Amino acid sequence: MMFALVGCQGATEKEVLTMGTNAAFPPYEFVDADNNIVGIDAEIAAAVADKLGMELEIKDMAFDSLITAVSSGSIDVVLAGMTVTPERAESVNFSDSYATGIQVVIVTEDSAIATIDDLEGKKIGVQSGTTGDFYCSDTPENGGYGEDAVSRYDNGALAVAALQNGQVDCVVIDNEPAKAFVEANEGLKILETEYITEEYAAAIAKENVELLDKFNAALAELEAEGKLDEIIGKYIKAE
Ligand code: GLN
Repeated sequence: MMFALVGCQGATEKEVLTMGTNAAFPPYEFVDADNNIVGIDAEIAAAVADKLGMELEIKDMAFDSLITAVSSGSIDVVLAGMTVTPERAESVNFSDSYATGIQVVIVTEDSAIATIDDLEGKKIGVQSGTTGDFYCSDTPENGGYGEDAVSRYDNGALAVAALQNGQVDCVVIDNEPAKAFVEANEGLKILETEYITEEYAAAIAKENVELLDKFNAALAELEAEGKLDEIIGKYIKAE
């Protein structure tokens, strides 16, 4: 009888929702002491999967391969503190936004850089393929500093290490990971002047409209229930 029961459970196994992310972006996604991927995005995705009666699986990958992975169908959804941009929206559909991000500048405490205007002629560290990378490497006419000003790193932690080693003069990155990196490392600060404000959303393959609709409906419910605020409040303390 016990065996029959196990067989029964197998037959009702839940469908899997595969989320892709880059787990080096605290507090949205990071690897905890038990080697689990946790954070705001992981918890929102788990809550959405729960509402859809699905089981969440998280895949950690390079940030700049997430759009290709979701549009080719190797993952179902991206939650990665990913900013909605018109360029990305040509390849994927974005869900409703669930959070706001702000690009900020990290410098060493003794830095001569005091405002955004001081970035000209400086070496800027960014995470490869992020909006911080796009803004900074753009031409000066478009508000950027040009390709030559920018050094690209695989993730924020490596960009911050380069700042500490003196390889770059500053790091342009999203505000919440910036706070986490400054807290975890001595001698760094965030400039008070904010660079650019953006919206974070989940990315889903263009043809998977069914999942987009379900995701947005689940997200709206989580918002109405106060669950979204609860998850965000667990990781981001109000100032
Ligand atoms: N919000 C930024 C972007 O979408 C950075 C995201 C990240 O590094 N995980 O490009």
